[in-house]
Amino acid sequence: MTPLSELALGQQFPAGALYIVATPIGNVADITVRALHVLGLVDRVAAEDTRNTSQLLSRYGISKPTIAVHEHNERSAAEHVIAHLRNGERIACVSDAGTPGISDPGAKLVDAVREAGFPIIPLPGASALATALSVAGAWVHTFSFIGFLATKPKQRDTQLQSLLTHTPALVFYEAPHRIVETVQALERAFGGERRLLIARELTKLHESIHCCTLAEGPTWLAGDANRQRGEFVLVVEGAPQQEAADDAHDALLATLLEELSVSSAARLAATLTGASRNALYTRALAMDKARGENERE
Ligand code: SAM
Repeated sequence: MTPLSELALGQQFPAGALYIVATPIGNVADITVRALHVLGLVDRVAAEDTRNTSQLLSRYGISKPTIAVHEHNERSAAEHVIAHLRNGERIACVSDAGTPGISDPGAKLVDAVREAGFPIIPLPGASALATALSVAGAWVHTFSFIGFLATKPKQRDTQLQSLLTHTPALVFYEAPHRIVETVQALERAFGGERRLLIARELTKLHESIHCCTLAEGPTWLAGDANRQRGEFVLVVEGAPQQEAADDAHDALLATLLEELSVSSAARLAATLTGASRNALYTRALAMDKARGENERE
């Protein structure tokens, strides 16, 4: 077998650099040869939970000094990391699972280290986001990563309303105690027809990947108590293109009709959007008529 160092050494591993290293999201074997090489090489590991990371490293026969870099101390811990980089150390940054900086600590450390002028080297690997998308299928051509929604229902619903006409698919992370409520909120916000992928416990023993509609989501989750356990990625189909365009055109026409006649509003909207003038005229006429009727009532 080719030694790790040879496989991993397609490049240099400079001293005085920060290495952002992805770790498994469940299956401990999902770590790259290059990541293992770098974790063996670095002087120190900046970790979200040092105990957790030490246990993970020991699975690969690696033991390293650690620095705690978590949500609550990322800025101050960055000073600590930078001091070690100034001494010419190589530092790896890992989160509890997956890729640092994706709904995990790491991004503020990257900002601080870049500002201090040290190289930052990414080591790609597992992420729940890419893993779920890899099994979504062709209905996801483009996507937006939303991550965790707001926990307060009112803020969450406002956030979902702002995404109503968004045409790329939406990717959410969710915890087990909120999964049912979140899928219900998604159905209320976007209607029942859009496709939904529920990717649960990816790469783990009880992995399940279920594709259905938003209307079917709550029923599937209720089908077995185990289906509500574990970690989740939800992928929701984006708004239909035409519907999103119609909503945007209506909003524009409504504003223009405040000041202009139906034909002027349609002409200007066609110039601004490139959409058909006739189609916009028909919509503007209907909107103007509806407005007139409302005013008479
Ligand atoms: N940095 C990680 C990444 O690259 O995916 C994400 C960390 S975030 C704190 C944790 C969330 O990611 C979980 O609540 C869940 O939504 C998602 N997640 C992580 N591991 C997962 C898995 N094995 N299966 C499904 N979702 C997972």
